[in-house]
Amino acid sequence: MAEIELKSLAHSYERHPSGPDDYAIRQMSHTWHKGGAYALLGPSGCGKSTMLNIISGLLAPSEGDVLFDNVRVNELSPKDRNIAQVFQFPVVYDSMTVYDNLAFPLRNADMPKAKIRAKVEEIAAILELEPVLKKKARGLTADEKQKVSMGRGLVRDDVSAILFDEPLTVIDPQLKWKLRRKLKQIHEQFSITMVYVTHDQLEASTFADKIAVMYEGQIVQFGTPRELFESPNHTFVGFFIGSPGMNLIPVTASEQGVQFDGIQVPLPDGVMAEVRRVGSDNLKLGIRPEFVQLSGHTTDETFACELLDVEDLGTYKILTLRLGQQTIKARVDEDQVIAGDTVHVVFPRQWLKLYIDEFLVDADPSEAVSV
Ligand code: ADP
Ligand code: MG
Repeated sequence: MAEIELKSLAHSYERHPSGPDDYAIRQMSHTWHKGGAYALLGPSGCGKSTMLNIISGLLAPSEGDVLFDNVRVNELSPKDRNIAQVFQFPVVYDSMTVYDNLAFPLRNADMPKAKIRAKVEEIAAILELEPVLKKKARGLTADEKQKVSMGRGLVRDDVSAILFDEPLTVIDPQLKWKLRRKLKQIHEQFSITMVYVTHDQLEASTFADKIAVMYEGQIVQFGTPRELFESPNHTFVGFFIGSPGMNLIPVTASEQGVQFDGIQVPLPDGVMAEVRRVGSDNLKLGIRPEFVQLSGHTTDETFACELLDVEDLGTYKILTLRLGQQTIKARVDEDQVIAGDTVHVVFPRQWLKLYIDEFLVDADPSEAVSV
């Protein structure tokens, strides 16, 4: 296995790119550490497959370097990079048996016959492919074919990394859950560097120790599921992770904080210093619905909101509130009593984030609250 470093990487499918919009990967650097279980999460079209194909060598990047354990591999063929890649749709040899499909990558690597058998049987057991080992791949269901395809990726434990590109798309939901657990189990067993591409946050957080969130051709945050939830580094992460996503309110700078619709929100001096330093007028206040607190009475710290809707979701409720001209969401316990048309809310300082040009302003560390 290897550490994979992407250095000042950029890629455009255009021969003569004229601006950032022409780039599928906008210049970025990133390191996938050795042995980690990672997810690459982002919406369709943000550049996930492009990045995987650059790592595996199927695609040559327009700019920048790919390094495995500090050695530049740009010129190496996919085969010489020793990477296993599993795609969204099954890649199997229809005329071969399942056994031969699984054995293929091992025979290519000149592994002794007895070892091949042991390895194929091990992977077939994990993926529950034993009953179909002797069958021709042609006759398999779509699910089974994709399991074979995954097996071909997993069968070699000497690879630098295994890249999964939305491998469970064609798998039915129940099996999906099971296979995700299996992948995690395989990772724990062999500690191979794995990068798992998905557009599904649940899938990402159940598989990965750390998630890279990709947006418009760049990784905007790399962190644990908890870090992405508690401290989104970019408004996109706030919006994309969580259900519903983070409340994001466009604001303007005022004397000691920010304001919107005549409502003043004080912010720490460190944050305001950054606002003045950058001088951008693209400012957004962010707070997750989970961190909006309800208060029984008005104080200096509360904001009066009009209650627009209550959605009861069993163990919790989602409130839709109007504050000034903004609509915000609050997630509260199911037993929280909601009375009347006006709700008083508190935005705890620790969970109130400010974004300048969509990126989080790091508050003065001395004011950071440890969690
Ligand atoms: P994702 O895997 O996140 O859905 P892709 O990496 O497939 O995203 O695509 C990123 C961007 O590059 C998209 O705008 C897509 O239309 C474009 N793109 C992908 N493949 C090609 C290609 N072979 N030729 C031209 N444009 C492409
Ligand atoms: Mg893709």
